[in-house]
Amino acid sequence: MIHALSMPLSKFKEAVVALGYKPFVATQIFQWVFKKSITDWDQMTDLSKSVRESIRSHVTLLDFKAVDSLPAGDASAVKFIVTLHDGKLVECVVLREKEYNTLCVSSQCGCPVDCKFCLTGVVGFKRNLEPYEIIGQVLIAQQAGYPITNLVFMGMGEPLLNYDNVFAAIDQINSPDGFHISKRNITVSTSGYLAGIKRLISEERFINLAFSVGNANPEKRKSLMPIESRNPILEVGRVLHQYQGMHNRKLTLEYTLLLGKNDGDQDIVELANLATYLNAKVNLINLNPHYRIPFTPVTSAHMGKIRDRLKSLGVPVTIRFRRGQDVSAACGQLGESHLK
Ligand code: SAH
Ligand code: SF4
Repeated sequence: MIHALSMPLSKFKEAVVALGYKPFVATQIFQWVFKKSITDWDQMTDLSKSVRESIRSHVTLLDFKAVDSLPAGDASAVKFIVTLHDGKLVECVVLREKEYNTLCVSSQCGCPVDCKFCLTGVVGFKRNLEPYEIIGQVLIAQQAGYPITNLVFMGMGEPLLNYDNVFAAIDQINSPDGFHISKRNITVSTSGYLAGIKRLISEERFINLAFSVGNANPEKRKSLMPIESRNPILEVGRVLHQYQGMHNRKLTLEYTLLLGKNDGDQDIVELANLATYLNAKVNLINLNPHYRIPFTPVTSAHMGKIRDRLKSLGVPVTIRFRRGQDVSAACGQLGESHLK
């Protein structure tokens, strides 16, 4: 089977020609898929019936077994639970704004990084997603009536541990032949996998990056994020600094607040030092609690004080409001469907 979504149009044309069709058949299929979000062959009315009947046994478009959606009570977020062709589950979430929709996509089924505050980590690692499975998440959101303008790789998985497939998907999403979503509107979030960041540098791949800090202090970080032992934050900071010096895209430090673990004044000062060194903005996220996660969120008043403290240290800071919590669609809550 040919997975059309995983290929650039030029490659797909070659594949289609090798099957005995004219190259423009590939262009027509790409237009249905990427410009109209249509993956049902019978709706591709500018292809002849005989082409539609024969090509579908060679070419796969959307390859999901099932898609279930759960709207949040306040309609600000919609979670999709996708059953992959092998029966495994992944989740993605549409975050709805007035003017645009952001899709929080998954890059892996589960995650091997095992951050102690994250439900996806608790679930464990199942496998990497293929480019067509990442692109497929955009398609199902659009087919459900949410045109996607922004993408964040903040769903399940560590995107830099699935580098090839994630960037093949980003290239397709960004391409004029694909969804044509601007790179400015795509953010990749990482827990700080050094080899991945170094590869971004060597390939001169410039994207909006978010780095999940956990705690800026190496010793304290190690107890929250085991990735610290082989990917020390001091080295990650140095490499991120080099990367940021090569382009002018944004860097965000994601900071999930855990009561008594990273919310003290010394923790915040160390975070501010890192942000200043990296010329980054801080995005505060309060912990989304779960019975499988042994931490507690901070109060909103405390969160406000931390924001003010960061501001007073000269660091740009935003607060990420929890959305979709009632459907376990919020950060670090993806994976709930695996626990049932
Ligand atoms: N693996 C990547 C991207 C997915 S995680 C990474 O770690 O960056 C996306 C974000 O959710 C991360 O910033 C992470 O710190 C945050 N997060 C994880 N568990 C959370 C939880 N229980 N509550 C709030 N945020 C959480
Ligand atoms: Fe994986 Fe990110 Fe969750 Fe850590 S926070 S376990 S890297 S998904």
